[in-house]
Amino acid sequence: MKKNYIAANWKMNLTRAEGVNLAKDIVTAIKNGKNKYMIAPSFPLIQDVGAVLKGTNILLGAQNMSAEEKGAHTGEVSPLQLLDLGVQVVILGHSERRNIYGESDELINKKVKLALSHKLEVILCVGELLEEREAGNAVTVCENQIKKGLAGISANELKNITIAYEPVWAIGTGKTATPEDADAIHSSIREVLKSIYNETAAAEMVIQYGGSMKSENAKELLAKPNIDGGLIGGASLKAETFAPIALVE
Ligand code: PEP
Repeated sequence: MKKNYIAANWKMNLTRAEGVNLAKDIVTAIKNGKNKYMIAPSFPLIQDVGAVLKGTNILLGAQNMSAEEKGAHTGEVSPLQLLDLGVQVVILGHSERRNIYGESDELINKKVKLALSHKLEVILCVGELLEEREAGNAVTVCENQIKKGLAGISANELKNITIAYEPVWAIGTGKTATPEDADAIHSSIREVLKSIYNETAAAEMVIQYGGSMKSENAKELLAKPNIDGGLIGGASLKAETFAPIALVE
């Protein structure tokens, strides 16, 4: 049986009290779930939500991380500070970080290496803009982001990395890639991994789909051979919309 990796990205939503309540509701709703789970609240919620997730089947995540360990980096959060809060997973290269805050592939690669050096699991996000898709460049864009994002990472380190394919035009828009379309890109991502590493590494890589995944389309997407999970934004903000995705087997 295929085990999916279902991760919640709460983005810049919720107060601490709201986050704690939502985390409790999700813990109850998916406590018998058979998949791998993670919730990434925004930084100010991490400690309180972490207390709710401790000892459950849900990992604690963060939505971003500095490329530096410490020092004069106003507004940044260090991997050491995340570890101190019990964070186990960090999302890097989310399209909102790339496209709104100008994060480059080189910066993201530096973050990936730093996270791995501190034994944090990484979800590395890749995905094309609408104009890139319309120009027929979706595969090339993802290929470049993967090659640059994973530069200098060994095959052995890949087991701590998950890739999330998130077509930017599908994030928060209600538009979803068709399962066939998403599976085709996931398959091309495996080809890229095969060319950089080897066949086993490519086959073992967990590749999540992200972009308006919801209860109505999750089952069909997750049934595809190359789709191993989901990174969920909007639908992760309520237990009743997240649980049906999390419980797909
Ligand atoms: C995301 O931001 O990672 C995401 C996939 O968002 P949504 O599910 O809202 O499209």
